[in-house]
Amino acid sequence: MKNKSPKVQLKRLISQLLIFISANLRPLGVKTGFCYPFFYCNACPAATSACPLRSIEQSLYHSSFKWKLFFYPFLILGFFGSTSGRAVCGWACPIGLLQRATSKIVRRLHKKYSFFKKLANHPIEPYMRYMKYIVLITLVMLTPFLIDFMFTDICPVGFLTGTIPTVIIFPGKFVPNVFFTAALIIFILFIILIFTVERGWCRYFCPIGAILAPFNKISYLHVARVPQEIFDKECLHCNACSDICPMGIDVPNMTRSPECILCGKCIEVCPKDLIHFERG
Ligand code: SF4
Ligand code: SF4
Ligand code: SF4
Repeated sequence: MKNKSPKVQLKRLISQLLIFISANLRPLGVKTGFCYPFFYCNACPAATSACPLRSIEQSLYHSSFKWKLFFYPFLILGFFGSTSGRAVCGWACPIGLLQRATSKIVRRLHKKYSFFKKLANHPIEPYMRYMKYIVLITLVMLTPFLIDFMFTDICPVGFLTGTIPTVIIFPGKFVPNVFFTAALIIFILFIILIFTVERGWCRYFCPIGAILAPFNKISYLHVARVPQEIFDKECLHCNACSDICPMGIDVPNMTRSPECILCGKCIEVCPKDLIHFERG
């Protein structure tokens, strides 16, 4: 079923802003008891919910498997993933919103310095995207189980939304732990990444993106092209769809890409209306 909705980007911005606000209502006494279906840190002084990665790590910590705590974030992410794939990344996640804000700077940088564009188009780039699955399996699942170390010890999102606000609001209360220096270095690298590669964190490293990505293959809502015979006849090969894609997807050749965040930009830009949101 086709659905070329107008003003998709405005609706997306409103959705991202409202969800960002609703994720930060603890000062008003709101605490949901659930975990977020996206990337946000429960150490943030304003956070209303728990980080799904932290729940997974805690369920495995010190070799004792707490199965309810383990499956709970997967159930939440699985629900959103099976209904709308990575739409959570495009329409809800505050870290997605942050990278939406930095994307204009990234594009300007790529226009001005061809080095960055070449780097983004390097043949190794598609393989870099597997890093997020490696981070999920090793740092979120294996190391908490095997040794006393977990991804959230060095998480740059935790540093941004938990450590920095805590230091600002409660300077006397903050006590740096043994991972502080490593977390600071990774945070600096994270900032460099999101200002040099559009949605760099989502493409290469986000473990929640790694959980959601495979659902794009089966999700009820997804982005699709018109049937191949019509596409072959109508496509102008202008590449406008791929050029505007924040996830760097080769849109004319995409079939339910695990990287698609359902942002709808390719749908809006195609002069021949060959791409659409599809249900079913
Ligand atoms: S990939 Fe991760 S950081 Fe990016 S939008 Fe999705 S959940 Fe958020
Ligand atoms: S393929 Fe289209 S909808 Fe998917 S991320 Fe790229 S521009 Fe957005
Ligand atoms: S924007 Fe439309 S016409 Fe242009 S390459 Fe993409 S699918 Fe083809």
